[in-house]
Amino acid sequence: MKVLLLENAMATYQKILIAVDLSNESKLVLQKAQLVAGPDADMHVVYVQEPMDNVYVGIVPQSAAFSGLGDLEAQLGEELKDKLNALGEKFNLPSDHLHILHGSPAHEIHRFAKDNGSQLIVIGTHGQRGLQLLLGSTANSVLHGAGCDVLSVRIGASH
Ligand code: AMP
Repeated sequence: MKVLLLENAMATYQKILIAVDLSNESKLVLQKAQLVAGPDADMHVVYVQEPMDNVYVGIVPQSAAFSGLGDLEAQLGEELKDKLNALGEKFNLPSDHLHILHGSPAHEIHRFAKDNGSQLIVIGTHGQRGLQLLLGSTANSVLHGAGCDVLSVRIGASH
């Protein structure tokens, strides 16, 4: 009974941003978002592709490491889009509600949430980068700068 009341109370979100890293656990994040979504809620799924040169800048000489990265990034972008579309299909979400953004994940998630008037951001506690931290670094950064509610879906070794 208590659980039902809680679910009813929470099911008032009409505009939801669901941040996924496209790992297998993304389904858990989407399932939880559906549970707290109000009827006919507007659910947007966001994946942020980080520029590859962000990772290596200052570590290796620009000329050697960066040639061809643009092509590689574009190719990767296509594969990510396919994965996101497959996830969207599984959850019956229209393609214009699936977004691949570019930049730093937390920054882009905040920006999208603000521009889109999101009432709730749903995010996993951890992503594919592992479970070493209490809260993953993306989840932590999103939580800190958010201008709306954030639901972090527990993702553990045993789920
Ligand atoms: P992490 O902090 O990387 O362990 O990931 C925690 C959660 O942040 C994941 O379960 C996703 O919900 C979200 N997340 C991580 N990376 C991204 C990304 N590139 N784009 C969108 N969401 C992400």
